[in-house]
Amino acid sequence: MLDVPGELFEHALDAAKRKYGAASDAELSPDALRELIQTFRGIVSEQHRGAGFPEEPLEQLRAAIGAVFDSWNGKRAVDYRNYNKIPHDLGTAVNVQSMVFGNMGDDSGTGVAFTRDPATGEKALFGEYLTNAQGEDVVAGIRTPKPIAAMADELPKVYRQFELIAKKLERHYRDVQDMEFTIERGKLYMLQTRTGKRTAEAAVKIAVAMVKERLITREEAVLRVEPVQVDQLLHTRIDPSAKVEVLATGLAASPGAAYGKAVFDADRAEAMAKAGEKVIMVRIETNPDDVHGMIAAEGVLTSRGGRTSHAAVVARGMGKPCVAGAESVLVDLPNRRFTAGGRTVHEGEEFTIDGSTGRVIAGKVPTIQPELSGDLEQVLRWADGIRRLQVWANGDYPRDAELARRFGAQGIGLCRTEHMFMEQARLPIVQAMILASSTEERRKQLDKLLPFQRGDFYGILKAMAGLPVVIRLIDPPLHEFLPSFEDLLVEVTQAETRGDPEASFADKRTMLAAVRSLREQNPMLGLRGCRLGLLFPEIIEMQVRAIMEAAVQLTREGVDVHPEIMIPLVGTVEELRRTKGYLQTTVDEVLAEAGIKIHYKFGTMIELPRAALVAGDIAEEAEFFSFGTNDLTQTTFGFSRDDAEGKIIIPYVDQKILPSNPFETLDRGGVGRLMNIAVIEGRQTRPDLVVGICGEHGGDPASIAICEKLGLNYVSCSPYRVPVARLAAAHARLAARDADR
Ligand code: PEP
Ligand code: MG
Repeated sequence: MLDVPGELFEHALDAAKRKYGAASDAELSPDALRELIQTFRGIVSEQHRGAGFPEEPLEQLRAAIGAVFDSWNGKRAVDYRNYNKIPHDLGTAVNVQSMVFGNMGDDSGTGVAFTRDPATGEKALFGEYLTNAQGEDVVAGIRTPKPIAAMADELPKVYRQFELIAKKLERHYRDVQDMEFTIERGKLYMLQTRTGKRTAEAAVKIAVAMVKERLITREEAVLRVEPVQVDQLLHTRIDPSAKVEVLATGLAASPGAAYGKAVFDADRAEAMAKAGEKVIMVRIETNPDDVHGMIAAEGVLTSRGGRTSHAAVVARGMGKPCVAGAESVLVDLPNRRFTAGGRTVHEGEEFTIDGSTGRVIAGKVPTIQPELSGDLEQVLRWADGIRRLQVWANGDYPRDAELARRFGAQGIGLCRTEHMFMEQARLPIVQAMILASSTEERRKQLDKLLPFQRGDFYGILKAMAGLPVVIRLIDPPLHEFLPSFEDLLVEVTQAETRGDPEASFADKRTMLAAVRSLREQNPMLGLRGCRLGLLFPEIIEMQVRAIMEAAVQLTREGVDVHPEIMIPLVGTVEELRRTKGYLQTTVDEVLAEAGIKIHYKFGTMIELPRAALVAGDIAEEAEFFSFGTNDLTQTTFGFSRDDAEGKIIIPYVDQKILPSNPFETLDRGGVGRLMNIAVIEGRQTRPDLVVGICGEHGGDPASIAICEKLGLNYVSCSPYRVPVARLAAAHARLAARDADR
């Protein structure tokens, strides 16, 4: 309240305990305490430039209330709200209540407890308490508290009463409660109860259990799990077959595994993470001033404190791995290093923590991706029953498709065919194709690529049997497949200045000339997308031949295939009409040759504002739309998707010029408005038009909510985000339904 740093009092208290040989605060004698109070007064008047200590209780109370209100604007509160997306103008309140005392002897105490285990979800009282202690002592991590179960022996009557109250509170609020209590001379006082924060694992387990216990409905269960928690459950864990050198074992305070460079303070953790480093924050214990470092870190390690300590609770809330109370880790903050298991890890050296087992491990350890648990499957199946939006996946290879299917994808919404061009064996052919001096020469190279592409499409269509697969024709500018202009220029110039024989770098010189001729000032706005196919139709003809031949082969093998050919970066209906014209000939040829019927579609991406504005015309030619919101955001804002995020958008978001990064969460007012026009006008032309989204936003819960409102048919995202999207789509549906009511 007087802005005096708390640690000054802590140091004085520690010194007093050392002087009088007291192990805990409670062992200090009244005389020692009297002496300590004088020291405290000294600290206050020194720090407060001689202003006396406020002796009037009402004055103290008023100042304390003021301090609570002031804390709303403190750095840690601001950081917390930013992280949890809580509006800054919400305001706060202060409760004033009389004290009870837990430090009045061995029949007194204080503690915190959850009605279920917040880490695992297990249905049992979970918590810690300390006898003869006051509130802060339990969470401060200074004295190691006892598990709540020990209270059953030490204070059996109080324990039984506490159990009953806990049950009643949980039934009343129909959710896990996080309770604080104090026992004053054998009498139990409940200080507070609130909804308990829990790990992702616990959230899922508790949601399913509470449905079975008939405490909540399935819809409520689905709403009790946050999409980000599903993400957390899909976090990495340590490969069990990996050889690990365990340096220490602490408490498994927040699950998941992480590795990173050791860093010993929050500011440095933040700075290193900003510079793109993975860091693990190591502290003796954490307090709210460390939160910005925890946000930046991959995980947290502390040497003191229990599973309800600050570090544990905050890390769990953030879904970050945390090992707490690893007492055998000797943290040497001044020298920025820790010692454990006979090893010293200095700042900047990599190590690993496993928050699921509490292990602290030397070096960087191989990790694996988790599987969906039974309870999570259950929640996702309930979500599937609620959502209207389908969830498809973006994937370029059969392995992506298989993973996506396992995660519940209902189609492939974007297969970026150019990724297949980048592979080692193919790149030289692709380059020869690009450098070809005649159409005939180009066709020759394309003939070599055809079997590769057919194999790719065969694999992905087979993996997605029975489901739609949207295959996008080549999109990026051709120079992306060639060596970099700058590198070539340096190499050729060096060879020239060294006076190397001309023949030794003639190839490089030819390549340099080719790259120079393909170079563009604004390649993202240049010769790419459907423009490429219109100027070099032989490239996309080869791709479509490969798609249809693969489809024919699979159909003959009895596999049900649904290829959908997607033409990117269309801005005018004429572009689409012409492109389709070329391709229809190829399709007809392949199918006539095979004498087989196949269900296929032609559609387009809507990724230019003009395309959205003339969507009614475009739908004449397109059987489906897919919003390429990466490009649509780029072209709507005029922000380069390659450069703007770091240089402009992050500072814009910091300065609140933009509410969020539009490449992460759809910009509803601009990009969303264009999408709305495209959906409405596209369907006016073609009422059964299927509309999806395949930009990065397709896996972002806030963007999925916008897609629900716009009436899209599906969202498409990376395979790992499919479960998140399934849940987010259900949340979006429920929110939309409630808004309609
Ligand atoms: C898009 O622009 O949103 C899209 C999906 O295409 P790409 O990211 O490949 O340009
Ligand atoms: Mg695009």
